[in-house]
Amino acid sequence: MSTTYASESARRRGGLLDVAVVGGGMVGAATALALAKAGFSTALIDLREPSRWDASAEVDLRVVGLAPSSVRLLDELGVWPVIRDARASGYARMCVWDSENGATLHFDAADEGRDVLGFIVENSLVQSALWDALDAAGVRRVVPGEVSGYSVREDRAVLELADGQTASARVVVAADGSQSPLRGMVGIGTRGRDYAQRGVVAHVRTQLPHQATAWQRFMPGGPLAFLPLADGRSSIVWSLPDAEAARVLALDDEAFCQALGVASDFRLGPIEATTARAAFPLKLQLADRYEEGRLVLLGDAAHAVHPLAGQGVNLGFRDVTELRDVLVAAREAGSDIAASHVLRRYARRRRSADTLDALSFDALGRVYDWRAAPLVAARGLGVRLLEKATPLKRLLGRHAAGL
Ligand SMILES: Cc1cc2nc3c(=O)[nH]c(=O)nc-3n(C[C@H](O)[C@H](O)[C@H](O)COP(=O)(O)OP(=O)(O)OC[C@H]3O[C@@H](n4cnc5c(N)ncnc54)[C@H](O)[C@@H]3O)c2cc1C
Repeated sequence: MSTTYASESARRRGGLLDVAVVGGGMVGAATALALAKAGFSTALIDLREPSRWDASAEVDLRVVGLAPSSVRLLDELGVWPVIRDARASGYARMCVWDSENGATLHFDAADEGRDVLGFIVENSLVQSALWDALDAAGVRRVVPGEVSGYSVREDRAVLELADGQTASARVVVAADGSQSPLRGMVGIGTRGRDYAQRGVVAHVRTQLPHQATAWQRFMPGGPLAFLPLADGRSSIVWSLPDAEAARVLALDDEAFCQALGVASDFRLGPIEATTARAAFPLKLQLADRYEEGRLVLLGDAAHAVHPLAGQGVNLGFRDVTELRDVLVAAREAGSDIAASHVLRRYARRRRSADTLDALSFDALGRVYDWRAAPLVAARGLGVRLLEKATPLKRLLGRHAAGL
């Protein structure tokens, strides 16, 4: 590990870290890097090293749409150029339409004076780029490290690991995913609902080009998205009721392509080829609190949302930016970074923003699930009005971009 301000300051305090981050997914790794670069002594604990992203391998089935706010954070952390040059697909337009009434919403980056609305990138590429930058920033890696216990002393939180080691820090960040064992250990509950849906993902080749456009068709039962990949294929996220998802997963490639073509109304022509498929359970879940004593929650540990708005990790990266800014401001004001008013400031700001977004995505899903004819007509009217209401549409676009 290189000798940096971070590791020096940890040594001065006899091994007491400023921050221990539990969970090295995209959000946890970004947190560790952001805090270390801001001068805090930081450790990152995860069960395992992520598998390395490999340019010669098939495009990872897990991809995300990064909003400009996320790209800005990754750029500040020095990893965006690595990701962009490796394999990122900018998309300039978004087209969302309703299978029942045809009402369509268009978003175009040019209307905002931008080149792209966002980028489609592989989760594993983002995670690898972040992990590759940890050593140079002085982040201490504790891998493999399974957190099995958490306690608070006067000046620190102590994490017990399954192998008997301990790690002590002034602040602990739980970024250990939607199941978050750490959230359970400190007794923070969650609320939300199981959508009883799965997101079926695959990469497909379509007869017509994707036109650097993210396409999404809303149908009763769930939305189907086509996200443009750099190699001309599209990555699909097809949200389906559990039983329907199981049926679709069991189809052979030819039957799957045919079913997908029908579901997409052949918007990009017939589906010519597909990769293997995978599916992920979908739920709405919000932690009751984002802080407890010396611990804060970030990313999916704090909130899990439906992928229909493609915002899950973008909300997580906004948590990272907020936490870094709050801790830096506290240090500059001479306050203890673990003081309850400091951690509460982060928790209050992010929980209210995340709640608003999560409930809006949930409401959108419910509205698109209306099946009665008068409601379907009302929905169509609303979308057509919104399509013409340029300032409101622009506001929505800017909010999704995190601007
Ligand atoms: C089908 C689908 C499509 C999606 N599309 C998009 C999209 O287009 N845009 C978008 O923004 N988001 C999208 N998302 C959401 C996005 O993938 C998640 O929000 C994001 O991956 C969460 O990252 P995270 O780092 O918070 O959690 P995770 O990736 O779950 O990472 C948690 C980490 O914690 C570690 N861990 C767990 N327990 C312990 C322990 N006890 N000790 C130590 N470490 C532990 C794990 O090993 C793991 O590395 C999508 C999700 C799905 C399911």
